[in-house]
Amino acid sequence: MNLAALARYPFLPEAGAWVAQEGPSLEDLLAERVYAGARARGRERLLAAIEQGELPATALAEASGPRELLEELLAYVYARILVCAMDDPYVVRRHALAEAVRARGFLAVERDPALLARAAEAVGLAFEPEGAGFRAHFTEYLRYAVHLKDVEWKLVRQPLSRGFVQMDAATASRLVQEALRRRIEAELPKPLAEEVEEAVAGDLAPLLEAARVRKEAIRPEAFGAVQLDLIPPCMANLLAELQQGKNVAHNGRFAITTFLHKIGLSSEDIMKLFAQAPDFREDLTRYQVEHITGVTSSTVYNVPGCDNLQTFSLCYADDLCRTKTKAGMPRVRYPGDYYRYMVEAQAVSGPIAQRVPLDDPKVLTMHLAKSYGLLMRAKEMAESPAFQRVEPEAVLAWVAEAKIPVKVKAGEKGSSIVMEPDDPWQVLRLVEGFLAARPAAKRGP
Ligand code: SF4
Repeated sequence: MNLAALARYPFLPEAGAWVAQEGPSLEDLLAERVYAGARARGRERLLAAIEQGELPATALAEASGPRELLEELLAYVYARILVCAMDDPYVVRRHALAEAVRARGFLAVERDPALLARAAEAVGLAFEPEGAGFRAHFTEYLRYAVHLKDVEWKLVRQPLSRGFVQMDAATASRLVQEALRRRIEAELPKPLAEEVEEAVAGDLAPLLEAARVRKEAIRPEAFGAVQLDLIPPCMANLLAELQQGKNVAHNGRFAITTFLHKIGLSSEDIMKLFAQAPDFREDLTRYQVEHITGVTSSTVYNVPGCDNLQTFSLCYADDLCRTKTKAGMPRVRYPGDYYRYMVEAQAVSGPIAQRVPLDDPKVLTMHLAKSYGLLMRAKEMAESPAFQRVEPEAVLAWVAEAKIPVKVKAGEKGSSIVMEPDDPWQVLRLVEGFLAARPAAKRGP
């Protein structure tokens, strides 16, 4: 195999063998001036992988100079060393994605079909040349196609003959990309000798910074600590179905993943939630979650809007979903709106429920989430010095003495007031009545 092919496909065993026999020693690659160009290209290669998830297309024809081809090949080796030195799973995934996409770019236009067959074989794919393309047993095809989310990869969409899928170069190279990505992810990072770590330490700072910036960019919106009991009914329903092992269609999986990421869950946290499903498949789920959340793709997908979710019959709107602005527009236009109203309401209902014993504080949270005016009044009341002095026992005693018409329920932890679901202002009236009847509480000690 010539040097140009090895530079295009440095993951082939032939490339490793060539470097071992004809290339520089590891010490020379890391230190000699003559290889400074290869090291610089290796740094650029990894930087582009971290920042863009893909590598700049380089024309690597047989006509390219031997020095250029050698630098390109050694740049791959050096980039792998840097990945190992960084020892960061996120960087491994970005590197694997970028290298796999680069390989696919070359393979899809490869003039020598034997090279595509060799690349497939090297990543463990059994493709057989057939006519101008390839064929693979459908089980082999599904091994990697099952991870590709577009509907065009479904087996029913493929030309199938006696159990074999017919593939052109574009299809075959896409599967090689997927297999290569997974292979690199499984291989790296490898432990490095101390001298190697010391030799590359000076190159790491800009790469670590790029990884930090990129991770920051894909970090979900700051909604504060995630509270799953405040999520909208559509998302609660999807999450419950997934955790029960029900068959949730792609639209639903996409919606719940983008939503959970948006409200602050990391890919790992989302995986943990999905892992409760009895039919949980870690490899498949990880691929989908990390693709959607921007870990292994250059896109962070947005949460679908309510109109979109309604189209796919995923909407289970409740009273909060149906609230309108003064101008008559829906207040909840995507599930994140619902969650934000609930989080804001909970921040006010929580302190109130500490001073007014409520049987179900979520009823108050829901009332506050539905009305901005009520929320503001309740917030003002909760922050007032008079309210800060209210004692739960004193409220209950006053309710009993003054025969206030509210339901009081006895429980193991004491009595509590049962709110009327249809009376949003009930708690505010109650507190105002208490403060008026107990001027001492209003004045304080
Ligand atoms: S209105 Fe929107 S937030 Fe509410 S259940 Fe329907 S899709 Fe979800």
